[in-house]
Amino acid sequence: MARVSYNINDSKLELITGDITEQDTAAVVNAANKRLAPGGGVAGAIHRAAGAKLWEECKALGGCNTGEAKITKGYNLKAKYIIHTVGPVYSNSKRDPINLKSSYLNSLKLASENRIKSITFPSISTGAFGYPVEEAAKIALSSVIEYLRQNTGIELVRFALFSKSDFDVYKSALEKLIS
Ligand code: ADP
Repeated sequence: MARVSYNINDSKLELITGDITEQDTAAVVNAANKRLAPGGGVAGAIHRAAGAKLWEECKALGGCNTGEAKITKGYNLKAKYIIHTVGPVYSNSKRDPINLKSSYLNSLKLASENRIKSITFPSISTGAFGYPVEEAAKIALSSVIEYLRQNTGIELVRFALFSKSDFDVYKSALEKLIS
C-alpha cells in the first residue's frame, strides 16, 4: 500500500491506495448518485459491504442534490457513519469545479456537525461521472486543505485511491499545492 501524509494545524491529510469499504475511519464518504441508490463503483461497493439496511435508510432521505451531502449509519462497515455526497457529472462547464468543491466542503461540514474526527473520501466524480482526475485532484485537495486550515475537530482526512495511477496523480497535486 502506498501512503503519504501532510500535517495541517493539528490535523493530518493522508493519501493511500485502498478500498473505501475497508477503512477504519469514523466516517467514509460515498460518491453517491442523486437517488442515493446502490449502483456501480463506490456506491455499489458501499451498499454491498454495508448491507441492505443502508438502502432502507437511504430511501427515506428523499435523494440528494449535486454538491450536497447527507449522513447515514455505517451498518456492516467498520465506519460508524457514511456521508453520501453527489459530485457533478463532468460537463466541462464553470459549474463543475464549484459543485465538486461543494461536495467536499459539505461533507466535511456534516462530519464536523456530527463530531466525526476521522473521515475517508474516495476520488469523487472521477469514475462514472467522468471528471478528469488531474483537475478533480486539485479541487479535492485544495478544498480539504482550506477546510482544515479554517476548522478544528477533524483530526484525519484520508483519501482512499483505488489505483496506483490515481494515487500518483493526487500525490503530485498535493506536492504542487503545498510547495
Ligand atoms: P462517480 O460516479 O462520482 O464518478 P465512481 O464510484 O464511479 O464515482 O468512481 C469514483 C472513483 O472511485 C473512481 O476513481 C473509481 O475507480 C474509484 N472506486 C471505485 N470503487 C472503489 C472502492 N471500492 N474504493 C475506493 N475507490 C473506488
